[in-house]
Amino acid sequence: MTLNGVNPVSDSLPNGVKVSVVRCSDYSQGNVDKAVRQALALIGGIGGIIKRGHRVLVKPNMLSARNPERAVTTHPNLLRAVVEMLKEVGADPLIGDSPGGVNRDIAKFWEVCGYKEVSEITGAPLVNLERNLEEVEVPQGRVYKRLHLPQIALEVDALISLPKLKTHNLTLYTGAVKNLLGLIPGLGKSEFHKRCPQPGEFGEAVVDILAAVKPKLSIMDGVVAMEGNGPVSDDLRKIGLILASTDAVALDTTVQTIIGLKPFDVPTTAAAVKRGLGIGDLGRIEVVGERLEEVIVDDFRLPSNAVVRSIPKSILKLIARRVMVKPTVDKGKCSQCQSCLENCPVKAISLKDDYPRVDHRGCILCLCCYELCPQNAIQLRRSLLAKLWM
Ligand code: SF4
Ligand code: SF4
Repeated sequence: MTLNGVNPVSDSLPNGVKVSVVRCSDYSQGNVDKAVRQALALIGGIGGIIKRGHRVLVKPNMLSARNPERAVTTHPNLLRAVVEMLKEVGADPLIGDSPGGVNRDIAKFWEVCGYKEVSEITGAPLVNLERNLEEVEVPQGRVYKRLHLPQIALEVDALISLPKLKTHNLTLYTGAVKNLLGLIPGLGKSEFHKRCPQPGEFGEAVVDILAAVKPKLSIMDGVVAMEGNGPVSDDLRKIGLILASTDAVALDTTVQTIIGLKPFDVPTTAAAVKRGLGIGDLGRIEVVGERLEEVIVDDFRLPSNAVVRSIPKSILKLIARRVMVKPTVDKGKCSQCQSCLENCPVKAISLKDDYPRVDHRGCILCLCCYELCPQNAIQLRRSLLAKLWM
């Protein structure tokens, strides 16, 4: 059987890796705990990865200050399950992430996303990844030869990535590898977009982070996913899965197969595989737990731009601006906070009659404004041609 054009031959797995796929029907703490334990047991147990006394940085996806039901961020009950397991094996877990944007109140993010409560219950401290940066060399760096990363991420014995299963209009999907962008402090993320406006080069830049700091373990929150035009859409989709692997790229490859994307459709996966930083060949991934064929979501809605990417580049050059989605401001929802103006890396947003207005000729479609608008007032509008086409 071929899955999304990939042949899952797993009888011989030269240098293969395991990805566990476990059902989890809801976010009740009992069910999440059980699923996380099972997912880790299937890949050899947490004891094979983390040892007593290890300091471990656990990094959820804290993209914006939205409550867990919005499915924009990693659910706090997954974070709690992982932190408690780490404590059981005698490790010393810390919780850290840096959301995008400038001039924001990080304490509010911790609270709204539910991570402050996890910290209070488990005793694992919340760490601010925006302080104490260290410049490091990036092995085989393609876009960045050197990066400024949080010292704590470089010092700990292990980094654990807890991504959320979501679509993303720029990279099509945001998973275990892209979750590492949160290690770049605040506005630095916008600089990534500014320097690398095209998805391919942006993928290479994110993979530079992977090359500098490889997570020892990734556990994905795929209980309630986001489909459509993520990463902050209202299109939630119950998938009911938790997945785990020691290889972030193999985990992403497996999830992409489940939602109908080929591994090389996603720039972070393609770049990581090219550099040998993980496995993107389903034939070398041993899927354990649920059978892959049984968890495929045939009708998962991909972002509008997924269709655009399938158009040959020569044609795309001529029509791209007519078919791509465009961020626009819904004045009825806008509170005029100007956060979008401050966070646009290419200054494509200006004020007109006291409301922000996007200059679509300058916009690089990074979606920073869309991700960071506190009122959900930035909408992704499709052109007429795109509506007819998609
Ligand atoms: S669109 Fe959103 S971020 Fe921009 S000014 Fe309005 S509320 Fe603020
Ligand atoms: S307008 Fe929005 S999507 Fe376009 S470049 Fe600026 S922040 Fe990015």
